[in-house]
Amino acid sequence: MNFIHQIRRSIEGDSASDVFLSMMLAVTVIAASAHLIFIFLFDSAGVPWMARANMVSVLMYVLTAWLLKQGHNMTALTFVVLEIILHAITAVVVIGWGSGFHYYIILIIPVAVLSSLHKPAFKAVFATGVGVLYLLLDHGFRQAVPIDALNPALLSSLHYFNLASTLMILGLLSMVYYRLVVRADARLRHQACTDPLTQLRNRRFAMEVAQHEAAVYQRGGRPLVLVLGDIDHFKQVNDRFGHEMGDTALKAVAQVLRNGVREVDHVARWGGEEFLMLLPATDVAEALRVSERLRGDVERLDLAQNGQPVPLTITLGISLLAQDETVEQALARADRAMYSGKQDGRNRVVLAEKP
Ligand code: GH3
Ligand code: MG
Ligand code: MG
Repeated sequence: MNFIHQIRRSIEGDSASDVFLSMMLAVTVIAASAHLIFIFLFDSAGVPWMARANMVSVLMYVLTAWLLKQGHNMTALTFVVLEIILHAITAVVVIGWGSGFHYYIILIIPVAVLSSLHKPAFKAVFATGVGVLYLLLDHGFRQAVPIDALNPALLSSLHYFNLASTLMILGLLSMVYYRLVVRADARLRHQACTDPLTQLRNRRFAMEVAQHEAAVYQRGGRPLVLVLGDIDHFKQVNDRFGHEMGDTALKAVAQVLRNGVREVDHVARWGGEEFLMLLPATDVAEALRVSERLRGDVERLDLAQNGQPVPLTITLGISLLAQDETVEQALARADRAMYSGKQDGRNRVVLAEKP
C-alpha cells in the first residue's frame, strides 16, 4: 500500500504533475499484479494465446515502472496506453467482446485529458481518437464469434471483474482530481488574502474585515479599535543595511505584531512598512495597553548585521470606530494620530482625537 501513501502525499504537497505521476505508478503496480494473475488463469483455462499476451503485458508494466523511476514519463505513458489498447484488442479478438477488456480503453480518455504531459489540442485529438477506436471495436467485435470460446461462467466472471476494475479506477481518478481542485482552490484563497513577504493578511482582506466589523458594531454589536503602525526611519534601515535586511526586519516586526495580539484580532500589512491591526471588542484603555506593549516589543527586537545592531522602532496611531463613522474616516483619524506621533519624535503610541 506504499503507493497509496505516495498518492496521498503528492495530493497534499506536490504539483498536479507529481500527483499524475504517482497515479501512473500506482496504476502500473496494480495492472502488473492483475496481469500476472491472468497468466495463470488463462493458462489453466486452456487459452495459451491470452496467457502469452498477459506475459507481454506484465513485461510492459515492469518496463513502464522502470521508465517512470528513470523520469521518462512520456514514454511510460505511451507504453501504458499501448498496453491497454493492444491487450483489449487481443482479448476481444481471441476470447470475445464479452470478456470486457475493452472497458479499460475508456479509461485512457480521462487519464489523457487529466495528464499534465500534453497540450490541450493534442489531448482533444487523442481523446477523440481513443473514442473512435472504442466505437470501431464495438461495431466490429460485439457480435463476432471469438477464436477461443471460454466457458460462460469464466467469461462472465472476467466481464464483471473488468467492469468493476474500470469503475473503481474511474472513482479513484475522480477522487484524486477532486482533492487536487479543492487544494488548489484553498491555496488561491489563501494567496488572495495573504501578504507574500510577511504572511500577514493583506490590505484587501483587512479592509473586508474592517467593513464587516464596522457593520456588526453599527447594528449594536461589539466595538472596533483600529491601530495603524508605521516603522520609524525605515528608509534608513534599507539604506544602511540593504534591502534584504529591510525585508528581514519587516518579517520580524510582522511576527512581533502577530504574536502580540489575541487570536480574534487581525494583523495586516497595510503598505510598505505600515501595518493595520483590527481589535474587535476592545476598549480604548485596553487598546492603549496592547499598542504600548507592541511598541516595546518592536523596540526590543534584537536584529543585527555583522555585529551592527539594526535599530527598529514603530509609531502607532489608535482610533476607536465611532457609531456614525465610516471605516475610512476612522482610519484617517488613526493615520493623523500616527503622523503626530512621528512629529513628536516617533517610537510612541498616540490616541486619535474623537471625530
Ligand atoms: P518615517 O519614520 O517617517 O516613517 O520614515 P520612513 O523612512 O520609515 O518612511 P518613508 O515613507 O520615507 O520610507 C519607507 C521605506 O520603506 C521606503 C521603502 O523603500 C521601504 N519599503 C517599503 N516596502 C518595503 C519592502 O517590502 N521591503 C523593504 N526592504 N523596504 C520597503
Ligand atoms: Mg510609511
Ligand atoms: Mg516609516
